[in-house]
Amino acid sequence: MRAIQVKQVGGPEVMELAESPVPQPKANEAVVKLAASGVNFIDVYFREGRYKTPLPFIPGQEGAGVVTAVGSEASSVKAGDRVAWTGIQGAYSEYAVVPAERLVPIPQSVSDREAAAAMLQGMTAHYLSHDTYPLKQGQTALVHAAAGGVGLLLVQMAHNIGARVIATVSTEEKAKLAHAAGAHEVILYTQSDFEAETKRLTGGKGVDVVYDSVGKTTFEKGLNILRPRGMMVLFGGSSGAVPPFDLVALSQKGSLYVTRPTLVNYIARRDELVARSGAVFGMLESGKLKLRIEHIYPLAEAQRAHRDLEGRKTTGKLLLIP
Ligand code: NDP
Repeated sequence: MRAIQVKQVGGPEVMELAESPVPQPKANEAVVKLAASGVNFIDVYFREGRYKTPLPFIPGQEGAGVVTAVGSEASSVKAGDRVAWTGIQGAYSEYAVVPAERLVPIPQSVSDREAAAAMLQGMTAHYLSHDTYPLKQGQTALVHAAAGGVGLLLVQMAHNIGARVIATVSTEEKAKLAHAAGAHEVILYTQSDFEAETKRLTGGKGVDVVYDSVGKTTFEKGLNILRPRGMMVLFGGSSGAVPPFDLVALSQKGSLYVTRPTLVNYIARRDELVARSGAVFGMLESGKLKLRIEHIYPLAEAQRAHRDLEGRKTTGKLLLIP
């Protein structure tokens, strides 16, 4: 089979297309022939070595396709099932081996590409808006990088809950997409000061929650726009990691909360995974959630996909097709 291999960490050029044998399932595993692999910012962290994994490795944390083989104890799936998963490394490939209990069935009305696009970013947007800070109607949320993969889904979910969404993006084109997804106000944080703008838009009151995946360039200012006892949800570092930080600032800025969540802990149990993926698929089926899959690359062009993602050239989801 063809798969992208990373033998040493570094820039996009360390991802090479290579041939290797189709994997065999262990007792509790299944082998899936991929129809589509999702590209996510976490793949950049692993490729760079910011997140550690043994070398060599096949990147990719998300995929969808058809089961081709199952291990002797993998009773929850059978050959021919359409399935999707996230959180298991190795999806930039024609075939992946996945623990059967991490696979979820894809509803009939959801395509393989949609399933591959919805698992990681959809469930992330879901846990952020429903569990980490369960948004309520009438509350105000600030969503950074709102035209990105997670961003566009999070804006839609927050809007559907009835919250007011203030979004930040880097370009006019991205602003249009954030508006269309349901953002009430959009700030071009590359051109104006989002701290001053948010204070103005909230009449000095501040927002209930900041969903920050940008990190280094936005974190500190984000603390200044929270209402007293508001919550900073730092869930990524697309601009770089947030440096060490003095917790006393949280009391000085209004008894704030800070959390640094990750999807793994919100789908750790099988029942959580099934319920959360079911909720996201349900939103897709009812039309309440729309995916934007504009960036589709052949598997062999994984390097280009990463360059585009890191270069802030993309909106919505990026997929690799084996
Ligand atoms: P995105 O599609 O959101 O791409 C990243 C976006 O970040 C860019 O499009 C850009 O939007 C913005 N950005 C701001 N500054 C920079 C910079 N210096 N370099 C690059 N991009 C920048 O990616 P994903 O949806 O895949 O992921 C979004 C973030 O969410 C990532 O940080 C990721 O790690 C995190 N994440 C966390 C999860 C968790 O559970 N903790 C799960 C999933 C994702 P703009 O041009 O508008 O500024």
